[in-house]
Amino acid sequence: MEFIDLRSDTVTKPTDEMRRAMAYAEVGDDVYGDDPTVNKLEELAAEILGKEAALFVPSGTFANQLALFTHCNRGDEVIIGDDYHIVQHEAGAAGIISGVQLRTIETDRGALIPEVVEKKIRKVEDIHYPKTGLICLENAHSNGRVIRLENHEKMRNIADKYKVPIHLDGARIFNAATFLKIQASEIAKYADSVSFCLSKGLCAPVGSLLVGKKEFIEKARKKRKIMGGGLRQAGILAAAGIIALEKMRFRLEEDHENAKYLAQKLLNFDFIEIVEDVEINMVFFKINKQFEEEDFVKCLFENGIKINPSDDGIFRFVTHYWVKKKDIDYVIEKMEKYFTVQQ
Ligand SMILES: *Cc1c(COP(=O)(O)O)cnc(C)c1O
Repeated sequence: MEFIDLRSDTVTKPTDEMRRAMAYAEVGDDVYGDDPTVNKLEELAAEILGKEAALFVPSGTFANQLALFTHCNRGDEVIIGDDYHIVQHEAGAAGIISGVQLRTIETDRGALIPEVVEKKIRKVEDIHYPKTGLICLENAHSNGRVIRLENHEKMRNIADKYKVPIHLDGARIFNAATFLKIQASEIAKYADSVSFCLSKGLCAPVGSLLVGKKEFIEKARKKRKIMGGGLRQAGILAAAGIIALEKMRFRLEEDHENAKYLAQKLLNFDFIEIVEDVEINMVFFKINKQFEEEDFVKCLFENGIKINPSDDGIFRFVTHYWVKKKDIDYVIEKMEKYFTVQQ
């Protein structure tokens, strides 16, 4: 059975065009810098993000951790939102790989608060203090919100004032750019380094990129080797990444429209409450009604729909390339049936 999979945009399988490109990709040994397809993807990524250089890595987590590992020394402090992916969903890697201390601060629905960040920066040399090694941003935030450029601009000014670099976790930077109706480079310009995923809404099967200054990427290339991320004929994967960048990033508006359509349909249930603004391809909602969650998830599954269980009562449905408008109608129909029978 072909499932309608609303769990995440990471579930996207490669398109036929990607599979063909992968099958016939020209490859070489990328650890020697010999893979023409990887080199092409890296050049393309750097150009699109408006940076000097880029590095292909296995995952978004890898790209973020490599950024921390390259920017920081052991014992440095990283100022970061307490609800950011690096803190919440990377299994404590920052402590293991870079040996940094994450100074987590509360965010304003995903945006760092400039005044709070400025307060947390270590301003004097003191035998007791760690050095502030990095500030981390995230856009789009994993709560489905897009951080506005004014916020990034303020963060840049603070970072410059104290000479601290900025890393942007831009796993979904093209969704953010699509929402803001700007080029991704307009977001990336506030950060020294940016990571982004090819394997989410852009449909590539594997891979992320880390972009930044040439010198930074050269340093990161060695650290990538240390982390076991020096891949050989990675052009097989990069071939799909090139299509992700040349084509798939221009169609994300459709996913955003579908998410809005889904949210609108969900609001027809008088017991459903949308709990976050729908800005990209995610809909967060609560079901204010007595029901058996496990049974609900199972019932949808039996009808060919995959969803994640709620996180503390909040469900997240994610739209992507393989979820079409008619699929959303089907999901709504099955939900209507479930909640009617359940009465
Ligand atoms: C998905 C995601 C990542 C990590 O991506 P993986 O490829 O799953 O490791 C990093 N940051 C954010 C905000 C994400 O949504």
